[in-house]
Amino acid sequence: MKVVDHIKKANSTLFSFEILPPLKGKSIQSIYEGIDPLMEFAPPFINVTYHREEYVYRERENGLLQKVSIRKRPGTVGICAAIMNKYNIDAIPHLICGGFSKEDTENALIDLQFLGIDNVLALRGDPIKSETTFVPQKDGHGFAVDLINQIQDMNSGQYLYDEQESAATNFCIGCAGYPEKHFEQMNMKTDLKYLKMKVDAGAEYIITQMFFDNQKFFDFVKACRAVGINVPIIPGLKPITTMKHITFLPKFFHIDLPEQLSTELEKCSTNADVMNVGIEWGIQQSRELKEAGVPVIHYYTMGKSTAVKSIVASVF
Ligand code: FAD
Repeated sequence: MKVVDHIKKANSTLFSFEILPPLKGKSIQSIYEGIDPLMEFAPPFINVTYHREEYVYRERENGLLQKVSIRKRPGTVGICAAIMNKYNIDAIPHLICGGFSKEDTENALIDLQFLGIDNVLALRGDPIKSETTFVPQKDGHGFAVDLINQIQDMNSGQYLYDEQESAATNFCIGCAGYPEKHFEQMNMKTDLKYLKMKVDAGAEYIITQMFFDNQKFFDFVKACRAVGINVPIIPGLKPITTMKHITFLPKFFHIDLPEQLSTELEKCSTNADVMNVGIEWGIQQSRELKEAGVPVIHYYTMGKSTAVKSIVASVF
């Protein structure tokens, strides 16, 4: 079932979450161990992230360095199929522009359709570690809006270089939004212009980047509505659980931690202290969002369900 239909059918806020494929070589069991503890809260869908290749340098026998391309977390589509098969709920693969030609994208979408997966979250992807700006694949897309256009073409039966009539796909497309703006944009106004382009191209809902200050989310929703973005906006929440997160999350995701939260975090001396603060903050954030009537609260588990479970158990 499509995400938008889950939302239409629901009479209160839904709970969903995102997982990462495990590191290459780990079994599917590690995925189930992250999902099982959260199943009692009846998520209607689970998102699975996509991780493109990285370049690493390996020393050869002659002492020279060889540049090698590796994918540390492959398996997104297979994991989605496994989730649908095992839990009988919708799995949403993230599909990115980076590393995909248009034909690769088309083939990936054909695979998804054959597997009965009718939801995708369409994203551009970040620059790979060795590049400072995003570089599209040769014959690939430079922005998520272009990927959305391609998916919409397939939804109307138009495949690449196609002369005969093809079976129309039926994908429900989601896209990303940034309550604290995307880091490459000049300001919120220009970022919203491009977000609206994604929605006008066919994105039926938005999932936000994580944020720790609900007011930023409420302001973002208001600003979206003011420019005519009227699709459901799903807040994304990430519980802080380790000392490392305190510096990593602002740096990597370009988000701020509110003063009240940073004051509490500064008192922590162990990961366990941080996790307690993170869970309590997540509970307060979730309660307020639920009271405000958001359609879904989407949690970034990053493969670890303990903190999310504690939050969800108090809120749902
Ligand atoms: P876009 O919408 O293409 O925007 C990228 C930048 O370009 C923005 O600054 C935007 O304002 C600007 N822009 C957009 N369109 C145009 C245009 N036509 N002309 C000029 N400028 C334009 N990354 C992964 O690699 N794998 C994942 O699984 C993944 N999952 C994510 C899930 C969520 C919910 C979120 C919020 C992010 C996720 N990301 C993921 C990270 C995401 O790929 C990065 O944030 C990336 O930098 C931007 O992706 P986007 O889809 O928002 O890009």
